Amino acid sequence: MSGLCEQLDPTKWAELLKNIETVIFDADGVLWLGVDAVPGSPAVVERLAAMGKQIIIVTNNSTKSRVDYEEKCQKLGIKSVKKENIVNPPVLCSELLQRSALTKRKIYLIGIQGLRDELAKTGFQYVGDGPDHFENYSETEFLYDVALDPEVGAVIVGYDNHFNYVKLMKAANYLRDPKCLFIASNEDSTFPGPNKDVTIPGTGALVAAVKVAAQREPLVMGKPHIATYNYIRAHWNIDPTKTLMVGDRCDTDIKFGIDNGMKTMLVLSGVHTLDDVEKYRKEDRKDLLPDFYAGKLGDLL
Ligand code: PLP
Ligand code: CA
Repeated sequence: MSGLCEQLDPTKWAELLKNIETVIFDADGVLWLGVDAVPGSPAVVERLAAMGKQIIIVTNNSTKSRVDYEEKCQKLGIKSVKKENIVNPPVLCSELLQRSALTKRKIYLIGIQGLRDELAKTGFQYVGDGPDHFENYSETEFLYDVALDPEVGAVIVGYDNHFNYVKLMKAANYLRDPKCLFIASNEDSTFPGPNKDVTIPGTGALVAAVKVAAQREPLVMGKPHIATYNYIRAHWNIDPTKTLMVGDRCDTDIKFGIDNGMKTMLVLSGVHTLDDVEKYRKEDRKDLLPDFYAGKLGDLL
């Protein structure tokens, strides 16, 4: 790791690739922005696959399943990527549940379709998805009690656009039992939308609320946490020194690459900018400084 944040052009990129066997791509902000591909990104991924590089996509987005992502890749022209090449919080959560010795087989789920689909395959049942309001919930009176399901053995917090006070209270009360597992899909503070002037709160904001109320720390699945790296090591034969991590966030993607001994590249098509990198350099955050950067992946074609 150099942390030099050297700008790549097509010639330097070709030179770098000589020593790279595996390329791990973050998804949103690198390959696509919402529904549209970042121009040139699909062509770069396809060229790398044709060169025989191992491609893995690692997203912190818990709202879709790997099948959905395979479909999205096919639609955007990233034809070489199948669901087996994709790692997301739902698959990490379900793997953790299957390895855990939980006797209570229900999950209190703060999350939407991606987590639901993956949990449905595990034999665990989930409760609490959707608005999860009490019928007699009153906006003017305090809640002093909640009905809990005695079969719940874990709480999962992912992105949930129904997140509300009732859900927060239920999660905090399930977590009073120290044997109840507390799992967070990821802790991204925000995520990028089409308008850079609008802040879109990420799952990290919801996880923070549950952490404060429950006074507990979760097992976090997404980048930069070790669960993601352990999953990759268990499923692929990667040499981190010959692996390039490409991302648009220093605190998730670049940190993930650096912490696990990979080479790292920031693209400026998503969340973080060169000003952010300079700020981290001044703060001496060596764990957040990429080796390389490019405006967008397509600039390297
Ligand atoms: N979580 C949610 C709910 C998102 O919508 C996104 C991006 O759209 C992310 C996390 C970040 O995803 P990625 O790790 O692919 O950048
Ligand atoms: Ca991203």
